[in-house]
Amino acid sequence: MLNDQEELAFREAAFAWIRAQQLTKPFFTREDLSQFSYGGTTHRLIGLFTGIWKVTAVSNTAIAISTAYVPDGAKRPYEDGEGPDGLQRYKWRGTDPNQSDNRALRRAMERNLPMFWLVGIGFLPGTTQQLFDVRYPVYLIGEEPAEHQFVVALEQDQKIIPSGEPVAVQEIVKRYNERIVKARYHQPLFRARVIHAYEERCAVCRLPFTELLEAAHIRPDSQGGSTKISNGMSLCKIHHGAYDADIIGISPDYTIHVRDSVLATFDGPTLQHSIKEMNGETLRQIPKEAASKPDRELLAERYDKFLSAS
Ligand SMILES: [Zn+2]
Repeated sequence: MLNDQEELAFREAAFAWIRAQQLTKPFFTREDLSQFSYGGTTHRLIGLFTGIWKVTAVSNTAIAISTAYVPDGAKRPYEDGEGPDGLQRYKWRGTDPNQSDNRALRRAMERNLPMFWLVGIGFLPGTTQQLFDVRYPVYLIGEEPAEHQFVVALEQDQKIIPSGEPVAVQEIVKRYNERIVKARYHQPLFRARVIHAYEERCAVCRLPFTELLEAAHIRPDSQGGSTKISNGMSLCKIHHGAYDADIIGISPDYTIHVRDSVLATFDGPTLQHSIKEMNGETLRQIPKEAASKPDRELLAERYDKFLSAS
C-alpha cells in the first residue's frame, strides 16, 4: 500500500496522463480509462460495473467516482444532487456504511486525497459503451450518514458552511459554492452532452474541432433556459458568436438566415464563406436522437427575437 505522499504522486501522474489525452480526445470509454501505466504496470481508473473505484493493486482508498449517463427526461438511478450549501453530493453504494466501496470513499475523505469524477455524457456512436467526461481533482469533504452520501468539493476552496457563523457569512459561502458548481460542473456537462450529441461538429458548418466548439443555449440560461440537449446547439466559436449577436438566426425548420445588413456587406473570404454563404442552408449537423434535436418551439421563440433585431 502507498503512503499518503506516494498515493498523491500516483494520482498526480494519473491526472497528468488524462490531461495529455484530453488534448486529442474529449471523452473516454471505460476501455480508454483502463490504460494508465505507472511504475511498469497498467492500471484501470474506472470499474467495469461500479461507480466507486479503487486501484486495489496499490491502494484501499477510492480514486474515482462516476455518474452514469442518463438521457434527458429519464430518471436517474441515484439522486446525486446539491445540498443546501450549494455543494454537490455523491451517494453511498447502498445503505451500509461499512460496505467496502463506502469505506474506500471515507478513506479518500480522511486522507484528503484528490479524485476523479467521471461523468457519463452519452454513448460511443453505434454502441452501448458509455463515454465519460473526466473531472479532476475533486475532493470528498464531508459525509452525511443519515442521507447515505458524501459531500463533494470541485475545488479545494469549496467549504462546507461553518455552523455558528452569521447568516451573512453562510450566504457568501453558499453563493461561492453555487458559482463554482455552475462553472465547474453544470456548464461543462451541458457543453459535453450537447457537443457529443452533434458528433463533435458545428451544427452550421460541421467544423470538427472540439476545442473550437461551444454549446449555445437556444433559450438563454439567464432567461430560464434549461440544460436539456434540445435547448442547445453545438456551434463553433464564430457561429456561436454570430448566433448570439443576431448576425445569423435559425428558424424552426432548421434553416439558417443571415441578417440583411450583413448580406449587403462585402469584406473578404471569412465573411463570405463562414457567414454569407450559410444563408438559406439547412443545419448540416443535428443529433440523431429525436429527444436531442433542437426544440422547434424554442427555436421559434428565439427566431422571433432575431427577426425583430434585424
Ligand atoms: Zn461553425
